[in-house]
Amino acid sequence: MENRNGWNRVPKFDGTMEVKINRWSPAPEDVGGEKRREIQTFEVDYICPKCKKGNMRSTGICYYTNPMQYQNKCNACGHTDTMDKTYPYVDYTHKLNTNMKTKFDQTKEAFNKATEYCYLYGLNWREYIRPFFKNGIVVGYHVLDETKSTAIKTFNV
Ligand SMILES: [Zn+2]
Repeated sequence: MENRNGWNRVPKFDGTMEVKINRWSPAPEDVGGEKRREIQTFEVDYICPKCKKGNMRSTGICYYTNPMQYQNKCNACGHTDTMDKTYPYVDYTHKLNTNMKTKFDQTKEAFNKATEYCYLYGLNWREYIRPFFKNGIVVGYHVLDETKSTAIKTFNV
């Protein structure tokens, strides 16, 4: 994953998923000239560290330090702070391929299969599905038998 200033404020993906970024189009080795690829944009805002309700907004005052600093003011409580950015701002990352499955998608898929299974066998999924965990993360779902002591079917994430 390429880095740039401000990237640390963008939600980070956990290391569990396979990361593939979009390719440049056209591939630069095939033809000279412009190349482009899709990016994913983010609006980045900053919650006031004092009241935790308002958002920090630029007052228009900046300080010619190196690097430049900007005064931001909370739009709820008026708390001011000197920060290295003005808020909100737009950040971007290279867009992830849409066919990529995140851990979240895989979990959802396993859960959907388990509920489908329950539906087929006339079981109330709320009672018969139990998630199981590894290191605090859901790694699958058991569908239990009528005594709810044995898994009759397992759907792994
Ligand atoms: Zn505030």
